[in-house]
Amino acid sequence: MRLAIVGAGPAGIYAADLIIKAERDFDVSIDLFDLLPAPYGLVRYGVAPDHPRIKGIIRALYEVLDRGDIRFFGNVRYGTDITLDELKEHYNAVIFSTGAIKDAELNIQGVELDGSYGAADFVNWYDAHPDFPRTWPLHAKEVAVLGNGNVALDVARILAKQPQDLLSTDIPDNVYQGLLASPVTDVHVFGRRGPAQVKFTPLELREACHIEGVDTIVYDEDFQYDAGSQEAIDTNNQTRVMVNTLEGIRGAELTGASKRLHLHFFSSPKEILGEDGRVTGLRIERTKLDGNAGVTNTGETREYSVQAVYRAIGYFGSELFGIPFDHKHGVITNDKGRVLDSEGKPIPGIYATGWIKRGPVGLIGHTKSDAMETIACVIEDRDSWWQPAHSHEHDIVELLNSKNVQFLGWPQWLKIDATEKALGAAQERERIKLVDREDFLEAAFKNYQA
Ligand SMILES: Cc1cc2nc3c(=O)[nH]c(=O)nc-3n(C[C@H](O)[C@H](O)[C@H](O)COP(=O)(O)OP(=O)(O)OC[C@H]3O[C@@H](n4cnc5c(N)ncnc54)[C@H](O)[C@@H]3O)c2cc1C
Repeated sequence: MRLAIVGAGPAGIYAADLIIKAERDFDVSIDLFDLLPAPYGLVRYGVAPDHPRIKGIIRALYEVLDRGDIRFFGNVRYGTDITLDELKEHYNAVIFSTGAIKDAELNIQGVELDGSYGAADFVNWYDAHPDFPRTWPLHAKEVAVLGNGNVALDVARILAKQPQDLLSTDIPDNVYQGLLASPVTDVHVFGRRGPAQVKFTPLELREACHIEGVDTIVYDEDFQYDAGSQEAIDTNNQTRVMVNTLEGIRGAELTGASKRLHLHFFSSPKEILGEDGRVTGLRIERTKLDGNAGVTNTGETREYSVQAVYRAIGYFGSELFGIPFDHKHGVITNDKGRVLDSEGKPIPGIYATGWIKRGPVGLIGHTKSDAMETIACVIEDRDSWWQPAHSHEHDIVELLNSKNVQFLGWPQWLKIDATEKALGAAQERERIKLVDREDFLEAAFKNYQA
């Protein structure tokens, strides 16, 4: 079998690894494509730089790709550099694992104001994504972060943290300098529901409550529990730990630190306020519990003075050319990974896995179980695979060359990797990320000079 996988994030890499290790009665050779000149998807370009344990998952993904039985083609974009028809001519099947890169939309007034940002854009800046602007406007003293998931905590933490504490990470110099010059004093995180309904995970919440040089503040009025909340606290260990963490800092003495992280609950964003096109505040509506751990609006509104608003309400997948897309959920239309046509029938040869299959929720580990399910379908569907006319491994290389696609393979990635480590070593850091695509290509094919 010749298998193409589009998207070299954890989902794509796990899928490749799993089919190689799976019980099957055919040989398989795999080509893994990514539009970026680097593998690892959101583990490299989403996970916060100050989470080295999670970033460490890259080590396990590296070992899979370094074995030599999966070919990596970086800098190749599905839809332009390679099309569905070309995949059909060269492979028996394709798995799309293209993840998610943009923010879900929030439809409230004022969202277009200068100073209203999507969290994904900010993450792309601090995690050095090559396709996003290199400068970030950090002028606000008071900032609102909307959302009660881990990405909201990442954004709030990176904004509030002492930049010196990020120096041990792989952030580029311009990110460090930008954060160093930031005048921020107060970061307000707003969630629609209560302490027993947050979507954080316990470790991330505990970390946010104990940032060096930052006072974390919660408000008494936000500690409300109904029968539904109590049931969650009694039956769900994670909920109990998080409620205990929040109760633990309730009423704690402030240290007088120069920065504060405020965690507000039962606050639904209503309008981003502005003057002369710039954000000047946020209006929220207070909510209250409905008895079953849901919330209803109360009609009571409040305004907070902030000069920037970060919307961390979730990511959203992007449609791929020629592939059925569920616009409501931002995923490829599929059943267990089999891509479905408009009548709900499986389309032979086309599969999906990871966030683009399931939606942008869940941890890296979940993409492994996703991949298992998809791979089982691929193997089971052997009789309906495509029959490619150009199935030799070299054919795809010739095609990309004939289209002048400047792709890079695993050996070139290793050179980039070594360059980033050398840049880091010069400053006694483990790595400093390259950012510009030109720099990647320079490091891959020539001798990169910092
Ligand atoms: C800000 C943030 C922080 C996170 N922190 C954590 C954490 O601390 N711990 C944790 O467990 N999980 C975390 N996650 C979740 C984790 O990143 C995801 O579960 C996981 O990355 C999803 O894997 P994936 O392979 O489906 O998608 P992705 O990781 O998004 O990989 C998709 C890949 O497809 C490529 N691609 C997209 N379109 C194309 C195309 N047209 N052609 C070619 N290639 C394409 C992309 O470049 C990318 O490399 C975080 C997520 C975010 C957004």
